[in-house]
Amino acid sequence: MTLPTVRLFLLGGTITMKKAPGENTSLSSSSGVVPAVNADDLCRAVPGLDQVARLVARTDHMMASGNLTFQHAFDLAAEIRQAARTSDTDGGDTDGFVIVQGTDTLEEMAFILDCLLDIRQPVVVTGAMRSPAQLSADGPANIMAAVTCAASKAIGKAGVVVVMNDEIHSAAFVTKAHTASIGAFQSPNTGPIGRLVEGQPHLYVVPVQGPRLALLAGADMPKVALIKAAFGDDGFLLNMVEKSDCQGLVIEAFGAGHLPESYLAALDNMTDKIPVILSSRTGAGHIFQYTYGYKGAEMDLIKRGLIPSGLYNGLQSRLLLTLLLMSGASHDDIKKTFAA
Ligand code: ASP
Repeated sequence: MTLPTVRLFLLGGTITMKKAPGENTSLSSSSGVVPAVNADDLCRAVPGLDQVARLVARTDHMMASGNLTFQHAFDLAAEIRQAARTSDTDGGDTDGFVIVQGTDTLEEMAFILDCLLDIRQPVVVTGAMRSPAQLSADGPANIMAAVTCAASKAIGKAGVVVVMNDEIHSAAFVTKAHTASIGAFQSPNTGPIGRLVEGQPHLYVVPVQGPRLALLAGADMPKVALIKAAFGDDGFLLNMVEKSDCQGLVIEAFGAGHLPESYLAALDNMTDKIPVILSSRTGAGHIFQYTYGYKGAEMDLIKRGLIPSGLYNGLQSRLLLTLLLMSGASHDDIKKTFAA
């Protein structure tokens, strides 16, 4: 039987991190773990992986995921798109893709790839919460699960997915919701869309397809600010953003989309110049549109020109707005995309 071919791109993260040789194991006297394991060694440490897929593994970076940029995501999307296209048209041999990276920004990488890729092959993003040196490191199991999903045709229907802790999450809904738990990745609005059971992927639901965007060639990288509303704040950060050269703003409001009156003057100055997205700091649920009528509530803010983010959280809204601006979207296109 020919095994499916899966291309694995390693970007770094805890899954690759070790202490320097000879370092003692006590937490307090250690200088900490740093990226050390490359893609080949990572895959070699997973028993039975070679029976699931023919792996073509590549070490792209060895970095903490907080250092990843939009450009890294764009380059990766271009490579994946190219390999998928070659596979479809010229008899290339790629059946699926796995991206391995640090968990700190994993949801953002997955979300960007989901917006930029429209291919039939599965694209799976994974990482680990525990480094290889820790007891019960979750990296090997996550790699096995991710490669298994990438080798399965059914997963390709779900858009980009995040596979961690034997759960399959849609890139459109997943978030890192814990600093340490191996179950840190959660989809608060929907739950996981599938699971691995006895090593086999089971997809329970196929999510509605989100926006698929094409960036304009040579588009400049817009600056999009993200601000969180906070109790008792007089809006000093917002005032700084107003005076900056940013081309978009996302504001994580209280509850279903509510802001203090101290923010309104700055917002009024901004809404006719740049898109301002109204998201929620709660982490789940829709922004309201028709319920609260007081000054600074969602009805008033929408009247002032803020664009409700729907179900997109603040991080997602910032990514989506950035990609929309880079795709040449008009103000109306932006409104429609968030409304959908
Ligand atoms: N600091 C690490 C990173 O994001 C955390 C991880 O991989 O879990 O690179």
